[in-house]
Amino acid sequence: MNASAIESNVVRDAARGSWLSVLDDLAPEINKAIEKPGHRHIACPVHGGKDGFRLFRDANLSGGGCCNTCGPKPDGFSLLMWLRGWTFPEALSAVAEVLGVSKGFQASKRIVQKKTHIEQSKSSVNDDKIKSLLRTVWQESKSIRHPDADPVRLYLQSRGLDGWLQNWSSLRFHPKMQYRNEDNQVIGYFPAMLALVENGNQPITIHRTFLTDDGRKAPVDSPKKLMPVPADRLIVGSGIRLGNTGRVLSVTEGIETALAVIEATGMVTWPLISATLMSHFVIPQGVEKLIIWSDLDRSLAGSFAAQKLAERAQTQGIQVEIREPSGPLLADAKSIDWLDVLNQCGPNAFVFRSVD
Ligand SMILES: [Zn+2]
Repeated sequence: MNASAIESNVVRDAARGSWLSVLDDLAPEINKAIEKPGHRHIACPVHGGKDGFRLFRDANLSGGGCCNTCGPKPDGFSLLMWLRGWTFPEALSAVAEVLGVSKGFQASKRIVQKKTHIEQSKSSVNDDKIKSLLRTVWQESKSIRHPDADPVRLYLQSRGLDGWLQNWSSLRFHPKMQYRNEDNQVIGYFPAMLALVENGNQPITIHRTFLTDDGRKAPVDSPKKLMPVPADRLIVGSGIRLGNTGRVLSVTEGIETALAVIEATGMVTWPLISATLMSHFVIPQGVEKLIIWSDLDRSLAGSFAAQKLAERAQTQGIQVEIREPSGPLLADAKSIDWLDVLNQCGPNAFVFRSVD
């Protein structure tokens, strides 16, 4: 064992039994789960949803947790890598710093590679199943402009959109999508709007909006749900690619919000699914200007995510504008987004005078 391997074990040992306070420090967004490890289910901090994420009961020892969609994170390091988009050495050094064992600490690349290899071989059988399921669902889907895709058009119209859709290859219709609850029991089959989630050009998973035949959200716990993510694919960095990017790219959190921006402005607009995924989005090559149509949330999660993405864009020399709904939030509203703006104020509210 070389010197740096010993030091990574030092950090590991120091974290064992202190993970809850380490996570509280480095991942405050999961504090509700930290309060009751093993018991309290919360919305997944990465992909959203309703209550698919929890820490393991032994989380103070292991640091691990599990999202039913994104998969298990066996220890605190893998949990932080997933939450923060960190490499193993980055997670290790952040934990070392919190624990005050960072002096002279340097992680070894060799250990990282070994670790990754072990994790992949363990999960490869399950991964093959997930990949074949993703392929099957996509093959069973139809064009969003197919006559059978009425539930999608009716749903979008019910949300105040015009229901006219370009024939994007990443937005599809599934006539009979199986819905499973958080305990993995089949609840029923529903028509669904499918959206391909891609990281760069690699397909990662499929986002589904479960509907009824007459275009309402399906009567299930989480009508919007991601399919599982194979362990060798990284959802952090992903987006839904509605059209090819040019010099300018618009992004939003929700799919419906993106469709509102497209309807009002005609700009190529990609939904990034959740605030966390927005903050980690990998901006495609060739984009010179990024416009972030952020949600205005009472929790400010949308504003923080937009700010984080904007800062990263600027360090890459990309011009960036954040466009936030002007508000104010009504007493009973948790958030407003640009679809609300379209419905309340019409497309003129999307016109901005460019400062350049
Ligand atoms: Zn998740």
